[in-house]
Amino acid sequence: MLASVATHLLRVELSVSGDVALLRLSGTVDADARFPTPPQAQIIISTTDVNRLTSVGVRHWIAWLERLAERGSEVFLVDCAPDIVVQLNQIQNFAGHGKLVSFYMPYDCPTCDRQSMVLMRTAVAKEQQPFRAPVRRCEVCDGVLEFDALEDGYFAFLQRYAAPEVPPAVAAVIDDQGNRGEIARIASTSFPSLSTIDSALTPSSAPDLTGPHMPRIEHVSPTDRHQSAPPPRRGPSMPLIVLMVLMLAGAIGLALVLLLRGT
Ligand SMILES: [Zn+2]
Repeated sequence: MLASVATHLLRVELSVSGDVALLRLSGTVDADARFPTPPQAQIIISTTDVNRLTSVGVRHWIAWLERLAERGSEVFLVDCAPDIVVQLNQIQNFAGHGKLVSFYMPYDCPTCDRQSMVLMRTAVAKEQQPFRAPVRRCEVCDGVLEFDALEDGYFAFLQRYAAPEVPPAVAAVIDDQGNRGEIARIASTSFPSLSTIDSALTPSSAPDLTGPHMPRIEHVSPTDRHQSAPPPRRGPSMPLIVLMVLMLAGAIGLALVLLLRGT
């Protein structure tokens, strides 16, 4: 139960270096996803471990990037997971004003049936038109890997994004990602939840149409919890009180009998 709940959480790790904030997102971007808005002027968003986005989650994401832009923060998208690349291709304003620094390319080894991700910088990919997945070899069998997507479709977003100018302070944080300092873990459950609104709009028995993924049986809104909670506890039941009174009366009677016999 805990594990399935965890797969539905969006986890955000925040680390701050001067005026640069690095947010590392992992898990699912869905209706419950809540994004922090750190005050730094430059915000790096890493999505290596984002493995699912629902349609409502995408709306939350776009609104979040709009809030950051309105506040004047410069946003850099790094390590975009394949699921993020799919969104970049499908939704025109998915990155908002964010600058696309790097993205992952999925490869597959036909011999080992092993999947691997190769990181590519947008600036490097932009040098080749149209961009084609470079040849990569399997770390295990050294065979040539197959690119695990349709190249025309997967790299289409590159036509809409310029090679970004990355300020030195931002580049330093990106390069130093493997050696992070203080990290604040922020789970989406610690933010106010809108799940009550969602469940009010759609009956809880309706199937989840946001994706061909796991059933959302673990989605429990506060109202559901209230309905399924046991009734409030009352005091001791009536028969118990009667029994206690009888026992007390018996004890007093026994004491009186003993007292009278003693005299
Ligand atoms: Zn292999």
